[in-house]
Amino acid sequence: MSAIPITKINYSNTNIDVLRLDQAFPEGNKYFKLKNNLAAAKQEHKKTLLTFGGAFSNHLYAVALAGHEQGFTTIGLVRGEEDLHNPTLNAVKELGMEIHFISRLAYQHKNTLEILTSLRSGNSEMYVIPEGGSNSRAVDGARDILTGIENNYSGIFCAVGTGGTLAGIISTPGLSSAVTGISTLKGNDTLTASVKELAGDQIISDWHIDFNYHFGGYAQYDSHLMRFIEKIHVEYGLLTDPIYTSRVLYAVFDQIDKKMIDPQEKILVIHTGGLQGWKGWNYRFNNKMDRDGISISLE
Ligand SMILES: *Cc1c(COP(=O)(O)O)cnc(C)c1O
Repeated sequence: MSAIPITKINYSNTNIDVLRLDQAFPEGNKYFKLKNNLAAAKQEHKKTLLTFGGAFSNHLYAVALAGHEQGFTTIGLVRGEEDLHNPTLNAVKELGMEIHFISRLAYQHKNTLEILTSLRSGNSEMYVIPEGGSNSRAVDGARDILTGIENNYSGIFCAVGTGGTLAGIISTPGLSSAVTGISTLKGNDTLTASVKELAGDQIISDWHIDFNYHFGGYAQYDSHLMRFIEKIHVEYGLLTDPIYTSRVLYAVFDQIDKKMIDPQEKILVIHTGGLQGWKGWNYRFNNKMDRDGISISLE
């Protein structure tokens, strides 16, 4: 028996189980990605977690929250300029995270920056977590997401950002389902190779990343997607986030409509969380949402 709740929904005579990481952990999937990193940081006697993120990112929030709960000092290097009204930044600051803004140009070189900080912090008290958090410890942690879940799904669907979560899923010991990652990023398929690399040797054979549901790219949207979010919230009482999990559910419903998924199949959708993102989303796009006549109530 798993401690993670499952919500059962039915669409067009097809049964879909939704694995509610969002209900189990305020960090969603980031809980799994961070847990082994934080354990390693403790073991290495590091007192500070340093990471990188966009100003609205779920990763930044998760590091601030997990760090706060486990007694670490946290530092976030954030792309862009200070914005005193950004709800995500205000939430992480409240959790004690120290924020430094770095220019978009400098941020493009963050890989170098990550490596440099890792090297520099070798003897220091800092533990560096990459942007999005997808290192090998994160993948190892993500292998625990399906622990205790029945292994009888024909298909499992999961959102893909940097790919660490998907890498963990497709290398879960004993898993026999087909796994589809739904990319929030547009087209450019370097993601498949990096997921493969992150997943290592024990990878299932039947998996792929679907790039058809990016809605224009990361954090882009259109009124179809917004109406869909509203619809599943109203009809199933299921709140998805605007960047990741809504695309996954949209993809599953679309593939059921297109008969790519058979009603006989048993589908598992992983709700990876991300609901903190709504505050930032509404802050950024409120006017446009109003114009589309869509309102999502958060509480
Ligand atoms: C970060 C995040 C993802 C993507 O996870 P990756 O391991 O980076 O692919 C998916 N869903 C939500 C809600 C997230 O916050």
